[in-house]
Amino acid sequence: MTIRFDNQVAIVTGAGNGLGKSHALELARLGAKVVVNDFGGARDGSGGSSEAAEKVVAEIQAAGGEAIANGADVSSPEQVEAMVKEAMDTWGRVDVLINNAGILRDKSFAKMTQDDWDKVVAVHLTGSEICSRAVWPIMREQGYGRIVMTTSTSGLYGNFGQANYGAAKMAVAGLMNTLCLEGEKYDIKINCIAPTAATRMTEDLMPPEVLAMLEPKAITPAVLFLCSQQAPTHRIVLAGAGCYAMVRLMESEGVYLDENERNVDGVAAHFERIGNMDNAREILAGGDHVTKILTKAAHAKGIK
Ligand code: NAD
Repeated sequence: MTIRFDNQVAIVTGAGNGLGKSHALELARLGAKVVVNDFGGARDGSGGSSEAAEKVVAEIQAAGGEAIANGADVSSPEQVEAMVKEAMDTWGRVDVLINNAGILRDKSFAKMTQDDWDKVVAVHLTGSEICSRAVWPIMREQGYGRIVMTTSTSGLYGNFGQANYGAAKMAVAGLMNTLCLEGEKYDIKINCIAPTAATRMTEDLMPPEVLAMLEPKAITPAVLFLCSQQAPTHRIVLAGAGCYAMVRLMESEGVYLDENERNVDGVAAHFERIGNMDNAREILAGGDHVTKILTKAAHAKGIK
């Protein structure tokens, strides 16, 4: 079995550098026509030029691939609409969207300004929503689509100094949770990647010998699987240093408390059991949790 992307059109945001560049080059090598999007700004989101995206396009073309450069800011609905229109006018379809563009404004929460919050949320969360919204009707119409959101362990687990970034990165997993339910009947599959890689985003956070183990190209195979025809849906895959793993949202079996225990002391007394993960299970839709608790409560009350 060989996974390829012939006759497919992919949009990779933030593909002028780092991970996005690696994804775009490999997609093109495996046959996709690629929109290389990058607004070409600094790590904090300031400035901008089309040079980074154009260089990647030149590299793809030199290797015999097809690509177009696009300088849209993913947080601008008008610019993203124009980017998707350009892809449609050029190639007539969009099969894959990789929401990868990102910026950092790291500060402890005490020092973080509202602007630091707004800019980071605008690029990571709203940018992923804007790009997904722009391709959604096309993917529905085609009856096929693959979207990868780029999340982060900073969002899934937390990281000092990244309240803005972590919140936005966890939120893209929340966006995935609902979009994959709504996209299911149109064969639109949505997954998340949580990468760890040496890029300009991380270059001053770790020593050179550690960065040397964290090649961006080790992330790309996981991303490409998550946007291939064989893709799963609703999965959060972690990749870094050649290691690949999955995060699943597991819910404990929990406890049913009788009315006489349904008070703060009752919760305190049973807190350990509430969190006991021995019989935990993965819940993949909000409604499944509601079914679970209603079934459990009915069972406890002897209702069939
Ligand atoms: P990077 O800075 O090398 O690449 C990010 C790219 O996004 C840049 O080329 C930048 O110009 C572009 N970009 C920023 N804002 C944009 C906007 N508004 N519109 C269009 N393009 C924009 O960093 P990277 O490490 O390759 O990051 C790629 C993604 O991976 C980001 O979403 C980042 O948060 C995520 N991530 C990276 C790591 C890591 O270890 N490198 C860890 C977790 C998550």
